[in-house]
Amino acid sequence: MYHELRKRGTRLGRIARATLRPFLDVSLPPLCPACREPVRDVGGLCAPCWSKLSFIARPYCERLGIPFAYDPGPGILSMQALADPPAYGRARAAVRFDEVARELVHALKYGDRLDLAPTLGRWMAIAGAELLADADALVPVPLHWRRLWARRFNQSAALANVIAAAAGIPVTTALKRVRATPQQVGLGRSERARNVQGAFQVPASARAEIAGRRLVVVDDVLTSGATVDACARALMRAGAAQVDVLVLARVVDATRPSI
Ligand SMILES: [Zn+2]
Repeated sequence: MYHELRKRGTRLGRIARATLRPFLDVSLPPLCPACREPVRDVGGLCAPCWSKLSFIARPYCERLGIPFAYDPGPGILSMQALADPPAYGRARAAVRFDEVARELVHALKYGDRLDLAPTLGRWMAIAGAELLADADALVPVPLHWRRLWARRFNQSAALANVIAAAAGIPVTTALKRVRATPQQVGLGRSERARNVQGAFQVPASARAEIAGRRLVVVDDVLTSGATVDACARALMRAGAAQVDVLVLARVVDATRPSI
């Protein structure tokens, strides 16, 4: 009897703690999502982490959005864009994928820190202002339903929803991931492209949402660009008029100058 009561007691305690957690958190100081130091604002970065973030600004390649070390003049494209043009039109990123950006992406993706999405999404809305001004709809990079089920949310969709509200553009979920693909982490450039080949598709029933429309694909990180390229191909096949890409962070190869 006593045992039974105690068992019930702990369960009730657990439920009470889970219910109260959102309220309890309010009384604790918010932590910097990158380094866990206390900060003043929820979702805000501490000053040292903030100063380590590299926001991407012009001059950059008008096609790929890769920052240039010096200004080559208006409309000049990077060697990468000329040698290996992507399926999408233009790509823009808010920040370079460095140490702090990696922590932020990781917290959003695996740490259930959806409260970061409003801050990160706003950075993206600013970085992608030109693309958004031309766009009819946003297309978050979809997760396979099995991964979505395991992770419970799609970080790209969370970012797309914030951008949609900021820019007044709808989000479409017409693009589907029809094949589960292994994680791209640790794969080389050509392996990444092979890995996502045929992974995305617009079902015939959703073509009307895509045909003739100008779209912006939204993702968290751009590494080789293979994933967003595969998305752009699927959207163009479904009749999209234009596909651009907006990501939170992009890998910038420091050892290889862009021009
Ligand atoms: Zn910090």
